[in-house]
Amino acid sequence: MTRKIAILGATGSVGKSALDLIERNPERFEVVAVTAGTNAEALAEIVRRTGAKLAVIADESRRRDLEGLLAGSDCRVEAGKGALTDAARADADLVIAAIVGCAGLPPVMAAVEAGKTVALANKEALVTAGELMTRAAQASGSTLLPVDSEHNAIFQCLAGSSADHVSRIILTASGGPFRTASAERIAGATPAQAVAHPNWSMGAKISVDSATMMNKGLELIEARYLFGLPSERIDVLIHPQSVVHSLVEFVDGSVLGQLGSPDMRIPIAYALAWPERIDTPAKRLDLASVGRLDFETPDLARFPALRLAREALEAGGAAPIVLNAANEIAVARFLAGELSFPGIAQLVERTLGRCEFAPPESIGDVLEIDRETRLRVGELTADPCQ
Ligand code: NAD
Ligand code: MG
Repeated sequence: MTRKIAILGATGSVGKSALDLIERNPERFEVVAVTAGTNAEALAEIVRRTGAKLAVIADESRRRDLEGLLAGSDCRVEAGKGALTDAARADADLVIAAIVGCAGLPPVMAAVEAGKTVALANKEALVTAGELMTRAAQASGSTLLPVDSEHNAIFQCLAGSSADHVSRIILTASGGPFRTASAERIAGATPAQAVAHPNWSMGAKISVDSATMMNKGLELIEARYLFGLPSERIDVLIHPQSVVHSLVEFVDGSVLGQLGSPDMRIPIAYALAWPERIDTPAKRLDLASVGRLDFETPDLARFPALRLAREALEAGGAAPIVLNAANEIAVARFLAGELSFPGIAQLVERTLGRCEFAPPESIGDVLEIDRETRLRVGELTADPCQ
């Protein structure tokens, strides 16, 4: 039986890696629905290659272009944010959630509420609505399969063990391009330097998040909801080689880790084929040529975003939503050359200080807090670091 797949964010870095694996296994997988933000040409090309029956472009102004590009095909075209949820509810066995940012939350939630198995890359969705989403998954019977490499590693290490037997989880972090940089050099970091990740090839937003270490902060919150452990039982460890993707420590002192070359096709393949495994073209790990594995404690003074995320996780309620919204705006401003690199964490910290909201009780509340936070960040126009 082929597994029917919907890919939310098919034109992105995770989307492309997923398509690469799917196209190598045509007897196993069939793509039924795909979405993109604005790139109608890339989306149409994916439809032609995969034969998907539904294509959704979030940007309404590109609807005509997409319709023109797919004229004569049997693929239905839809446009607009609301239509993303149609793709999430399509006739698929597995929904790959690979949109970047809180924009992915409504369709992910629609997939969860529809009881789908969701391969979750879109960490911002879980960061902003962790409790609501895990509760909805329990109610609908939806399974969340982590695609983020660290969480996928932990998921693999936990297989078959009881939650009572786990004492803590350890998320590894490469440390990003500025791991060894002085505070002065970090202060002058340019977008081109920030997106040049030493080990992983990823989209621009997550690459900047890796450079600030906000990515690891978002992953702390993601881990909290995926694995149900409190903040004090989730550690972060710098591991520059990105070979050990994360670790689980059990009550008897045993520690299990998952290792592999840094290629997202490995965790994506695990989520695609779960509970089976499929072949991938990822480079095999050659530990003799890696030679050594280093580990160090993160430096919260040079990377304050990690501290801010931990604080938001511990504060709970609306704090992770505010953290995420402020970070999304700050990263976009940094990439546009309007904010310095240290300005990202500063803007997030100032926004957290200015925003207090009641804990969200619905996805509508989450989206309202996200919207309100973005308005307040908009009022903080000056670069706090200039
Ligand atoms: P990307 O920027 O390469 O791709 C993002 C995708 O989302 C694209 O298809 C884009 O068209 C779509 N999109 C963007 N804005 C949208 C909007 N407003 N509405 C609808 N669609 C929109 O990003 P990526 O690197 O593939 O990352 C996707 C998600 O996976 C992120 O949440 C990221 O944190 C997570 N993730 C990525 C990697 C990686 O290796 N790239 C690893 C772990 C986790
Ligand atoms: Mg990760």
